[in-house]
Amino acid sequence: MPFSLSSYGWRVEREMMEHPNIADYHLDYPRLAVLYEATRELHASLDLTETLNRVIEKAVWLVGAERGFIMLCESWGEPRVRAAHNLNPETIAKENEPDYALACQVLETGQSTLKPDPPDVSPTPRTVVIVPFRARDEIIGVMCVDWETRVGQFTTEDLTLFEAFAEQATLAIQNSQRYEMMEQNCYSYIASISHEWRTPLTVIKGFADLLLAKMADTANEDQKKWLNIIRSYTSKLLTLISSEMEISRIDAHIKISSVNLAAPFEEVVSDFRSQIEAKGQTISLNLPNLPPVYADQWMLSKILTKLIDNAHKYTPSLGKIIASAEVDNTFVRVKITDTGIGINSEDQRRIFEADFRADHSVVREQEGFGLGLYIAKRIVERLGGKIGVESEPGNGSTFWFTLPIATTDERG
Ligand code: ADP
Repeated sequence: MPFSLSSYGWRVEREMMEHPNIADYHLDYPRLAVLYEATRELHASLDLTETLNRVIEKAVWLVGAERGFIMLCESWGEPRVRAAHNLNPETIAKENEPDYALACQVLETGQSTLKPDPPDVSPTPRTVVIVPFRARDEIIGVMCVDWETRVGQFTTEDLTLFEAFAEQATLAIQNSQRYEMMEQNCYSYIASISHEWRTPLTVIKGFADLLLAKMADTANEDQKKWLNIIRSYTSKLLTLISSEMEISRIDAHIKISSVNLAAPFEEVVSDFRSQIEAKGQTISLNLPNLPPVYADQWMLSKILTKLIDNAHKYTPSLGKIIASAEVDNTFVRVKITDTGIGINSEDQRRIFEADFRADHSVVREQEGFGLGLYIAKRIVERLGGKIGVESEPGNGSTFWFTLPIATTDERG
């Protein structure tokens, strides 16, 4: 991306004051400015894949190369290509064997390399530059860039610039790695305590069921009432535990790709049809030809299931439910409309908060914990969309959410 030196001058100076080590690189002013431009967005995300993609893209740009890749040492000690620019990460080890072998060497020695191709590999003079990511005394990975079609040599100044960039990139990579580890620990912690609690609760519920069945004729009304309370609260706790596990999974496991809405939509509607018709309600699906959206297919089905289930639960018999979707600028807007009990404006403001349930007789009759919409909002926002509701008490509700239209197969 082109940029003007003068407009970055003051930022470079500030950067040098805030990060004195940038000044230690002994680079000339234009190179410092370019280095600053390349490093200033490296910390924009804590997602490791995003960070690595950004690092390699900026690295290629920094020295005017054509392609490159990053290899990291995995926790089990093996190196693995984790990001690439203008190269297929899957085939680098085979199709770019000389560069790959050199990168492995740098990983072992920790010595940066500026190496011309051997004459039998390329008759035209061409160099490859490889630098390690050094964290204290440990080499956590390497970065390699070169030209594929152009003839040219990197200079030792390029190498110094590249090393300075790698030093800054190492900090961003380590931050993302630490965050990833923390997320995984947090998820396993929640998953393990939830799992530990689930077994004793299931046993308590099982014995309450058994007592109720065995004492059906002998227990007095109070005893039956108390047993039912034990049973219903253990059921509640079991559902709460499942929801907690689900929330912790959203961030750890979301996988965004280009998805066609029609198939999951039709599947969810058809799963609900008999239940809805049994209550004397109708459901119709209005889906025009829609472009694919960025979503996680499994989570998308969960949101649709939640909204249709609510429409079904909070709409009296003979009511109508309409599921539809339409293009709205660069998004697809999905709507679930019902002719149910509706929601007053004060409740609408709190409806996506955890644990919220409206104070309404129909709501009290239904089992629920006020977590479904909260989870749906978390998922939709994580997918880059928005969620909302329009409603009037006694006149039904329309819950809607948007998802970005996909422009490529994978979201970068
Ligand atoms: P739950 O349904 O388990 O209580 P949700 O988070 O799905 O939890 O919904 C929260 C609250 O929002 C519900 O308890 C109900 O008061 C209200 N609500 C949700 N969907 C509708 C709807 N379609 N019509 C009326 N009220 C609704």
